[in-house]
Amino acid sequence: LTEPFQIARPIIDKIEKCNHQAFFVGGCVRDLLLERPIGDIDIATSAQPNLIQQIFEKVIPVGIKHGTVIVRHQHQSYEITTFRVDGDYTDQRHPDFVQFTNTIHEDLKRRDFTINALAMDKYGKTIDLFDGKADLEDKLIRTVGNGYERFAEDPLRIVRALRFSSQLGFDIHHQTLNDMKKVKEAIETLAMERIVNEFTKLFAGRYLANGISYLKATEVYKHLPIMVEYPYIIHSLPKSLTPLYSFGEVIALFHIVEPRASVENWITSWKCSNKMKNEANQLVYSFHYFKKHGLDQWLVYQLSSSYYNGFIRLIKTFQPDYSLMHEDLYQIDQNLTIQSKKDLEINGNEIVDLFPDAKRGPWIQRTLNIIEKEVVIGGLKNIKFELKEWIKWNPPEIN
Ligand code: ATP
Ligand code: MG
Repeated sequence: LTEPFQIARPIIDKIEKCNHQAFFVGGCVRDLLLERPIGDIDIATSAQPNLIQQIFEKVIPVGIKHGTVIVRHQHQSYEITTFRVDGDYTDQRHPDFVQFTNTIHEDLKRRDFTINALAMDKYGKTIDLFDGKADLEDKLIRTVGNGYERFAEDPLRIVRALRFSSQLGFDIHHQTLNDMKKVKEAIETLAMERIVNEFTKLFAGRYLANGISYLKATEVYKHLPIMVEYPYIIHSLPKSLTPLYSFGEVIALFHIVEPRASVENWITSWKCSNKMKNEANQLVYSFHYFKKHGLDQWLVYQLSSSYYNGFIRLIKTFQPDYSLMHEDLYQIDQNLTIQSKKDLEINGNEIVDLFPDAKRGPWIQRTLNIIEKEVVIGGLKNIKFELKEWIKWNPPEIN
């Protein structure tokens, strides 16, 4: 067993001491067998949440109703979920009822794809009821059981299949693919937050081109906001697509490809946060500025440093031959004369004092904006005397 599993092993030991079963399950087992970096380690157990809460010290009851608690162990979080059978999905988000079960078998049956329905005991022995290992070998995404029923039960699985094809570079089994096509319009009933969550992972996938080709083949995008109005978007994405690491970057990409769909519109109809809106807007602005003026102080000055990498990924997407690195932006940032308007050696009142007859008005802010840009990129020195002189020689239009 690799280190992350060794660290988690005492959790399983402890549950077993209480005469219950516990297994590593889902994505972590899949990624171990694929020799990919492990994300979160999830554990499935026959013990019920109240027992888990009793035997572990640090427990966060995140989803008791669904049988899930988080256990903190060695400064890490582990999701521990009681074996369960899922009922009908009425709102396709929360199962109608959660029925616990005593067997890992039933628990694995409810899982979406064979490659995600693997369990492993603490010695590293796998439980593989649906030939998930063979599918890992063959690089195949295939539903556990009847695809039509499984997708109808929770249509998010359709988007998840696309997401895994993008992350893993796997093919989707032809029967599973057919079932996705049959059920696809049901994704219209899903909460956008769930879709955004999967789409974010899809666009960050190492095999993004694979994911996009399945997105095209299934026409799933025709059942998503905005894409339904501009189905062309998906087909006009640049060929040199680079994985994007946040959904703000994805929205910026979509908007650059189809300017008629505004960032605002994307944010509202895909139920995204204001933070994402700000990110997408900054990226779009910087992208267009870059195309017009190239990389300069004014661009770097306006772009938050937390978006440097996203900006670089966007440039790479559209100009794969242009080499731009974080270091390039960082260097420019380090040499900026000011970091924000607050650093200017002159303020609104001092500007007003230069024109004793003038009434206050929007011209003050306008003058500050001009001065700001002159200082950042025009070579004007940020010294009070120099700033005053400059304004006297370039008097603003007062109104
Ligand atoms: P990642 O590494 O991206 O976290 P993952 O396989 O762990 O991938 P999760 O979304 O974290 O994916 O889900 C954990 C496990 O729960 C999956 O491996 C799968 O077995 C099961 N699962 C998650 N969502 C569903 C679903 N909608 N329907 C059925 N099973 C699901
Ligand atoms: Mg996971």
